[in-house]
Amino acid sequence: MLRFAPSPTGDMHIGNLRVAIFNYIVSKQLNEGLIIRIEDTDKARNIEGKDKEILEILNLFSIDYVSVFYQSDNLKYHQKMALQLMTQKKAFACFCSDTKLEELKEESIKKGIPFRYDGFCETLSDETVLNTNAPFTVRLKKPDHNIKFTDVLKGDFDYAPFDVDSFIILRQDKTPTYNYACSVDDMLMDISMVIRGEDHVSNTPKQIHIRESLGYTKEIKYVHLPIILNAQTGKKMSKRDDASSVKWLIEQGFLPSAIANYLVLIGNKTPTEIFTLEEAIKWFKIENVSKSGAKFDIDKLRFINRKHIEMLDEMRLSKILGFADENIGKLAKLYLEEASTIKEIKAKLDDIFSVKTTLEGFEEESKKVKEVLQKTSYFESYDDLKNHVTENTALKGKNLFKPLRYILTGVENGPNLADIYPFIKNYIGEIVR
Ligand code: GLU
Repeated sequence: MLRFAPSPTGDMHIGNLRVAIFNYIVSKQLNEGLIIRIEDTDKARNIEGKDKEILEILNLFSIDYVSVFYQSDNLKYHQKMALQLMTQKKAFACFCSDTKLEELKEESIKKGIPFRYDGFCETLSDETVLNTNAPFTVRLKKPDHNIKFTDVLKGDFDYAPFDVDSFIILRQDKTPTYNYACSVDDMLMDISMVIRGEDHVSNTPKQIHIRESLGYTKEIKYVHLPIILNAQTGKKMSKRDDASSVKWLIEQGFLPSAIANYLVLIGNKTPTEIFTLEEAIKWFKIENVSKSGAKFDIDKLRFINRKHIEMLDEMRLSKILGFADENIGKLAKLYLEEASTIKEIKAKLDDIFSVKTTLEGFEEESKKVKEVLQKTSYFESYDDLKNHVTENTALKGKNLFKPLRYILTGVENGPNLADIYPFIKNYIGEIVR
């Protein structure tokens, strides 16, 4: 079983979507299911509705899964297992206050050494614990041996007990910390491979130590994906980069199929540049993903988006644009020379269907052309329409073509009118109104 474990704490980042896509592809390749686990135990950071938004995005990208879990529903298991660890003396109650811990942290910073828990409460007798009337957290004792694991991309890691530390598994309110809930749930859900962002590498030894302490022996494979870099600045795609938000990209008119294609393409060796996720399932190799940061370039995504729009069935494209006529899909594809997103194509259609006034410098001519076209019956070919306008306005050259283009498309430049006309001929009444 694989899992995608987003926290409902903000807009979905493209890095997270990349993690979801890779989990989806690998789950299909291994013929194992994919579970969506909403990691909602950090109540203070949860944002209402973000869980639904994440699920909607996964649907939009056709990432199918076997079930959705909310981590907070597993609270009773997290607590029961903490009790088991305490009974076995593998975990202990820690009464150290936040203030004291802060002081210890400050001291470490001053000394220039990493902060580690000083082990004070580990030595308290059961009697003292029972007689202490103060809130406490539960800490897991650090391991007595090094924790080792191999990451599929990054190779071997080896953490000394000091670096794993005796860390908190239940907060004072008895809710689980991220590492604890995550590790227990990976165990309960029988996860075989964890694919996630590389910011979690240092959590991995803690999560392995938790499961070892609980007596769980199944080995979980780890794949930590490198961060996504802004190709222009070379820096991490942060929340400040608009393009880091999946929602923003969708609103800008990038197709999910193109975004998915691009997120698989970057930092990877792929047999072709343009593909669908279903095709990628056939050749994708998680071990081929680059260890170094994947560079995100919005101009390249625009190119890929054009290719995916081109591949769309014309009726479907027309529906995405708010019509139900394959001619509108064909018309939209004509505009791919100058538009790269659904939003940009929509703007072109809006120009065509807008109410036109007169073209600057050609006021009289525009008026004449418009009047003739308003009285015109249907013409099958562009040549017939053009001849009809020429005969009835006595205009020629640019005095004819400039206003004619303006009245038919709302702008002065664009694809050839002869190419556009077959797709708009049924709408002339509306266009010249
Ligand atoms: N909730 C964690 C996050 O969104 C997921 C960590 C994991 O996949 O283990 O970063």
